[in-house]
Amino acid sequence: MAHKASLSQLQTPSVAYADGGIQPYADIKIHISAEALTRGLSIFEGLKGYWDDDGAEFALRVPELHYRRLCRSARLLEIPIEFDYAHYLGACSELASHLLVPEADLWLRTTLYVIDGHWGEGTRADLIITAFKQTKGRPEPMRLGVSTWRRSEDVSLPYRAKSTANYSVARLARIEGNRRGYDDMVLLNSAGRVAEGTGSAILMVRDGGVVTPPASEGTLESLTIDVIEGICRRDGIAFERRPIDRSELLVADECGLAGTISDLTPVAEIDGFGFEVNGLLAELAKEYESVMRRRAVLEAFPMVTIATSMR
Ligand code: PMP
Repeated sequence: MAHKASLSQLQTPSVAYADGGIQPYADIKIHISAEALTRGLSIFEGLKGYWDDDGAEFALRVPELHYRRLCRSARLLEIPIEFDYAHYLGACSELASHLLVPEADLWLRTTLYVIDGHWGEGTRADLIITAFKQTKGRPEPMRLGVSTWRRSEDVSLPYRAKSTANYSVARLARIEGNRRGYDDMVLLNSAGRVAEGTGSAILMVRDGGVVTPPASEGTLESLTIDVIEGICRRDGIAFERRPIDRSELLVADECGLAGTISDLTPVAEIDGFGFEVNGLLAELAKEYESVMRRRAVLEAFPMVTIATSMR
């Protein structure tokens, strides 16, 4: 149960960022009439920061790409963004400086809650950032099932927007998975093909190459997948984005989940179909960790140092 140890919501940090500054975590409130609550209108990004091996520098993974995805989600949902990337990075750094400890990495949730507005009139959102400790170390293989719940469609609840509303289906899939004894679930799209996990992208290995569904199959545009693609290109490993049938996934050689929190997590089983867990994806998981901890550099996917240790 790789996720359980780092369940961020079980932590209560001392402070968070809201209304333009650092506030006590417990004091931050949202009004009951905010569109964030009445119409489920909030968008977010989960960013992860990693210490290097010496514990000397703490760096965020691709924060500018997260900012750009947040801007795309905001444009799609007609939420004005009134701050630039420098402000976004500064706010993340400020919060991290309060909450960082040497023994843990950090996951930051940067959420735009729509606090003013009515059916699109006078929409105003507040950037609220919370951050939670993440255990270091590579995730353990997981056991998955295929959920009876499906990803929304582009024309109803666009999956490209990282909006909180999209996660109500993911939540139902997790509940279903818990009842069936699985660590996480695979969500299919409305056509019955593979989309993604509840909070991560999915990939498989077939004939020595990595395959993952494109975003148009009902997935969030995953930044972790982009980094893994960069590693594959660097190392001469075939990497393809194409639709995957459920039946093709079940008989793949290897399977994995990829996401900011999951890193690259090997999957040992889906609905009783087993996979190799010490193969290509395990190698890629090590390479991924090397990039995160700055033993290797991928130019297109910068790690941005935002704190240094006092040691
Ligand atoms: N799909 C969903 C539903 C997610 O919540 C996430 C995590 N953000 C992903 C895919 C993977 O995206 P990323 O690699 O950018 O974290």
